[in-house]
Amino acid sequence: MSIEIRLPTALRAFADKQEKISVDAKNVGEALERLFVRHERLRQQLMSPEGKLRSFVNVYVNDDDARDKQGLATAVKEGDTILIVPAIAGGSTTAELELTTAEKSRYDRHLIMPEVGPEGQKKLKNASVLCVGAGGLGSPLALYLAAAGVGRIGIVDFDVVDESNLQRQILHDTPSVGTSKLASAKKRLLALNPFISVETHELRLTSANAVELFQRYDIVVDGTDNFATRYLVNDACVLTGKPNVYGSIFRFEGQLSVFALKNGPCYRCLYPEPPPPGLVPSCAEAGVLGVLPGVIGTLQALEALKLILGIGRPLSGRLMLYDALEQSWRTLKVKKNISCPVCSENPTITAPIDYEAFCGLKEKPMTIPDISVQDLKAKLDRKEKFVLLDVREPHEYEIAKIPGSTLIPLGKLPERFGELDKNLPLIVHCKMGGRSARAVQFLREKGFDAVNVAGGINAWSQSIDPSVAQY
Ligand SMILES: [Zn+2]
Repeated sequence: MSIEIRLPTALRAFADKQEKISVDAKNVGEALERLFVRHERLRQQLMSPEGKLRSFVNVYVNDDDARDKQGLATAVKEGDTILIVPAIAGGSTTAELELTTAEKSRYDRHLIMPEVGPEGQKKLKNASVLCVGAGGLGSPLALYLAAAGVGRIGIVDFDVVDESNLQRQILHDTPSVGTSKLASAKKRLLALNPFISVETHELRLTSANAVELFQRYDIVVDGTDNFATRYLVNDACVLTGKPNVYGSIFRFEGQLSVFALKNGPCYRCLYPEPPPPGLVPSCAEAGVLGVLPGVIGTLQALEALKLILGIGRPLSGRLMLYDALEQSWRTLKVKKNISCPVCSENPTITAPIDYEAFCGLKEKPMTIPDISVQDLKAKLDRKEKFVLLDVREPHEYEIAKIPGSTLIPLGKLPERFGELDKNLPLIVHCKMGGRSARAVQFLREKGFDAVNVAGGINAWSQSIDPSVAQY
């Protein structure tokens, strides 16, 4: 039975600005439940933790107060309208959430600080932050935002928890290996703080969905690990007017800044263009020290809190560089670029672009021929003549290798490729296929008949020989 629920202006902010929502239900309680499943934040607005309708909220079925009937058990039929009528103080239509007694106990160490206090804590409760990525940076970030009482935390991710994530991604745990990162994150965050809501967005952030998604949050925090998404996050933040709390990590180094504040620079002001593909390896290829994302992600959470509370000086117009080995910080000035393609007064980018093409990622799959680990195994079994070239680093070679391979690290290839026999085909592998793709490109340019092993030695270990260690 289709029932129409009508929301007052004050509550529409929590339901994607919708005025009316149709649901199928037999009674008022069921109808509200259907509504809350779609718009979780409304539950906090309308229901007490015990599951009762809050006393300042009245529910009408057509023209009758549901309390005069059977309350939440009041039956509804096709075509009925449920009206939600909250008390409105002094003609104001703000639907600001108040702190409950339990929340006051929980946030005591905030409440006793004059810079936060009950007003600040209410700001946190009424704020929303979107975390892009639930990985190394997203882990400490989401945990601290949840602990501090940020009322609505959104997470975008589409990955599955892998054992190799657990060395740094403290949001996830061993029993979660193989499950979705979003499910794992939501469970952990709500266990930490049941007074917040966690919205999960299982999708790859794209030019088609970023702007709409960002509009639903106050602040966006960038925990991505690739340039295409980083430029997309930046541009969509500028276009929607949302602060972009930026962090990035690489091996022992981190970067931190706040972009896209009013009058402040954006990521493109700092780096107008990405490096060519392959110049900067990803964390999966180059590694990252376990604690480093904790340092940077935690500071991103701190900047987000400062922005919500309106305290201190945001890290806008400044880029902080962290060196974990030196244990040193440097702060550089970042100026707004008056001819920035996206945040200047006359931008050339007024909608999200094709970031894969912008980052030069599109040609690679066409020019690099590859071979599966199964085909490689078959060639080895047939004792075909070829050179199996491993382009990883010596310490990786010690962890795991495919018997019979020749080791020349990618960085040494330009000076050592002369050691290779041009008359033999080359089959090139690395850990996952990224570095070897670049090696194949280089070797083909030098006239070799080279192909790339798709998935690298990790795929070999998974599909052919489990005795070869994965790392
Ligand atoms: Zn800019």
